[in-house]
Amino acid sequence: MRYSKLLLPTTKEDPAEAEVVSHKLLLRAGFIRKLTAGVYSYLPLGLATLKKVSEIVRQEMNRADAQEILMPMVQQSDLWEESGRWNKYGAELLRFTDRHNRGFCLGPTHEEVITDLARRELKSYRQLPANLYQIQTKFRDEIRPRFGLMRGREFVMKDGYSFDIDDEGASLTYQKMYDAYHKVFKRCGLEFRAVEADTGSIGGSSSHEFMVLAQTGEDTLVICECCEYAANVEKAAVRVTAEKCLDVELQEMVEVETPGTKKVARVAEFLSVKTTDIIKTMIYLADGKPVAALVRGDRTVQPVKLKNILGAAEVDLLDDASAYDMTKLPVGYLGPVDLPLTVVADQEVMQMCNCVAGANKKGHHLTGVNPGRDFTPDVIGDLRQISTDDTCPSCDGTLRLTEGIEVGHIFKLGSVYSEAMNASFQDREGGEKPFVMGCYGIGVSRVIAAAIEQNHDKNGIIFPLPLAPFQVIVLNLGLKDSAITACADQIYSELLDQGIEVLLDDRDERPGSKFKDADLIGIPYRITVGKTFSKEGKVELRSRKDGQVESISHDSIVEHVVSLVSNELARTLS
Ligand SMILES: [Zn+2]
Repeated sequence: MRYSKLLLPTTKEDPAEAEVVSHKLLLRAGFIRKLTAGVYSYLPLGLATLKKVSEIVRQEMNRADAQEILMPMVQQSDLWEESGRWNKYGAELLRFTDRHNRGFCLGPTHEEVITDLARRELKSYRQLPANLYQIQTKFRDEIRPRFGLMRGREFVMKDGYSFDIDDEGASLTYQKMYDAYHKVFKRCGLEFRAVEADTGSIGGSSSHEFMVLAQTGEDTLVICECCEYAANVEKAAVRVTAEKCLDVELQEMVEVETPGTKKVARVAEFLSVKTTDIIKTMIYLADGKPVAALVRGDRTVQPVKLKNILGAAEVDLLDDASAYDMTKLPVGYLGPVDLPLTVVADQEVMQMCNCVAGANKKGHHLTGVNPGRDFTPDVIGDLRQISTDDTCPSCDGTLRLTEGIEVGHIFKLGSVYSEAMNASFQDREGGEKPFVMGCYGIGVSRVIAAAIEQNHDKNGIIFPLPLAPFQVIVLNLGLKDSAITACADQIYSELLDQGIEVLLDDRDERPGSKFKDADLIGIPYRITVGKTFSKEGKVELRSRKDGQVESISHDSIVEHVVSLVSNELARTLS
């Protein structure tokens, strides 16, 4: 493609409407344009990248014995009434009526349509397992569509559904999809992890989210530097490594005066103890009732864990004033000994001995406090947030905290939909059985946004090679010089002959803006033909990723770039 003929409207300024990097860069680099809130047109480069992701997904799904179909985007309400989701789904389901006053919706997902298809077409166990998928535009009427392709109302998704005769078969299919998803995101050239997930409202028994790692995301993950372990920090289980101090003589509990020490660090300083010797007492409101949560002084309470331990619907940390209003207790000097509240202790607290805790009296603490002897919590459990001081629960490796962007989600659905919609098949013995289902989604358009969140710098996008709209850009810096132009044209056409996706910047622009645009749109390899060619017959090759520059003879550049590209693509396949 010649740049001069391409619809590629780049801009210098950050668009005011964009809050996240991928949204800004997709607009600035001329990949997408907004039609209305959360609805975008894909310009040539945006579409090229979308096709790249789709094709990788398609190839890996086909390789895993899934078959591509295409279902309607418009769905009638009676199917959704059968599954029970017509009323349950909420305002995100865009409902409307046709001229005959029949109810319809724009499909945000296709469990109903596929289950209907399966009950008509899959009659016998001999046709199973069956795994069907589509790559299609979906619509979800988000209340606040934002972040461009990250959370739009209209988006492109791969959704797949499997039908098995029993749980065992469904588990095998699930594993096959789990493996295929790893291949997909590896082939996209992305750093990602699979994280065990809650099944949420969709129902079922097992589920994984595939998260692209980035500096910004919706979920904080803890990942291992040494193995594949990854978990949401809200749920990441913590192992107790500290041992109960067995050979230590237990001290008497003593009340000491500690004025002005509401914070753990101040107490430690005042009493010359370590923060790890202090029991921190936090007051939370759990479903309207104040409870005390205990963790070691250097630790953080994880509210989601507290909520789960208590089986509460809602848990909120109380600020000092509200905590005082509700309990009339001397907040800042609270401790578990004779505390008239429900006390939930982190398991690690029970390993501590001779520690310091609030005395439930303003300006006073207790020393020599021993859990079990001086107080017994109402509940003991895994309450604290995992930290990078912890080691990996599966291999003892070093942990790292990172943000994650969900790009894929796989579920074992069981027979929730097949039972609700009477979708059954004849088994080997001639009996009727409901299908055991699974569903598997990939946010195809979201992968583009996630790839940019993970790979960019101040100058623009740094596409992983497999997703780049073009693999190579050739800059002609001597449009009026016939030798330079002939060389640039020749490199361009030879690269095309070799099957390389190449963009030739043949615009009448200053070199500076050509360099800027090439960086902005994120093409992995840049070949510059300019003065050095006139002087020495050499062209410049620059890698967008690491900025490395090589000067290479004009007659060997094509061969060199072809091998760079094919080696790099091969690495994503192995
Ligand atoms: Zn590990």
